[in-house]
Amino acid sequence: MVNLLDFDREGLAAYCEQLGEKRFRATQLFRWIHQKGAADFDAMSDLAKSLRDKLRGVAAVTALPVASEQASADGTIKWLFDVGGGDAVESVFIPEDDRGTLCISSQAGCAVGCRFCSTGHQGFSRNLTTGEILAQLWFAEHHLRKRLNLGDGERAITNVVMMGMGEPLQNYAALVPALRVMLDDHGYGLSRRRVTVSTSGVVPMIDRLRADCPVALAVSLHAPDDALRDALVPLNRKYPLAELLAACRRYLEAAPRDFITFEYCMLDGVNDSDAHAQALAALVDGPDGVPCKFNLIPFNPFPASGLTRSPNERVTAFARILQDAGIVTTVRRTRGDDIAAACGQLAGEVQDRTRVQERMTRAPVRPIRITRPQTTPSGRQERNA
Ligand code: SAH
Ligand code: SF4
Repeated sequence: MVNLLDFDREGLAAYCEQLGEKRFRATQLFRWIHQKGAADFDAMSDLAKSLRDKLRGVAAVTALPVASEQASADGTIKWLFDVGGGDAVESVFIPEDDRGTLCISSQAGCAVGCRFCSTGHQGFSRNLTTGEILAQLWFAEHHLRKRLNLGDGERAITNVVMMGMGEPLQNYAALVPALRVMLDDHGYGLSRRRVTVSTSGVVPMIDRLRADCPVALAVSLHAPDDALRDALVPLNRKYPLAELLAACRRYLEAAPRDFITFEYCMLDGVNDSDAHAQALAALVDGPDGVPCKFNLIPFNPFPASGLTRSPNERVTAFARILQDAGIVTTVRRTRGDDIAAACGQLAGEVQDRTRVQERMTRAPVRPIRITRPQTTPSGRQERNA
């Protein structure tokens, strides 16, 4: 069975051609699927009967079974989707006054293995397909439209963030068609500014995304120097800060926004001192800097991390230092933590095929080398200090 959710519009047109149908029929079919949420070909009343007959038996709109739904006291909703083989992934809907954001997973687990991330601790099972990435949006949008009693043309989801389980840029081939469907006027019609890819810093893929499908980019920074970032985000050993920042500058040439959002998870006693904040400001404002905004994320604890959240006063003081340096800085409000739906708490159900869990048990979290950035009298950070 071909899953029609696996195709962007171009792909669906090619598939229709293969079936001996005109390409424009694909647009009609695409609209039925993504705009109306239809899965039953018989319901697609204005679609040529010849196409409907050909599709039956060979193709389907394959949704993901919902294993569970949890609603937070603050309105956040988390779904666990069964993706087969003992794996399950999570999506989170975050309603706000002026928008509805869906946080989507790109992989079952994650191979990057950041120490402060619950998904990272679970290890990696496999990449999701384009259809599995889109099935999360397809289900949430059409389910919520009914549930919230939205009228024709009203949307439940106005923003998508690729911030669920997984490193989206390590699943590039499946990601890009999914992004195209989100942006397509015949699909979800979201503007590039309202679709955000968050990455721990896969440098070559940042360049490819700039060329193929530039949407808003968030980069998970978490440290102002390579020594500390190596310990927190292991991918930094492959793509160190200087290379990452250079890729961010190149990205801005094509980006829909004129800044990169840097995410920074606030870990008590690890990366949250005044000196860290000063070093960060120097890093992004310096000659190798990047026009950016900071989004500070108070660490969301989970069992086994062995880490704690920075106290509120520390987060405020840290933000103030960045703001005083002229950098727009916000603190992410924690949403859905009562149902473990907050950033970094998504764990789904993952068959760890990379033995990350084992490696992390052998090397417990405590030994993270806590390096303080060295600052010169001018407050500038020494490179690779
Ligand atoms: N893999 C991508 C996207 C998923 S994680 C990335 O790392 O960017 C989405 C965001 O949540 C990232 O900024 C990540 O660093 C942050 N995060 C992970 N674990 C967290 C935790 N326990 N508390 C707060 N933020 C966390
Ligand atoms: Fe993977 Fe992102 Fe979690 Fe790091 S923070 S382990 S890259 S999902």
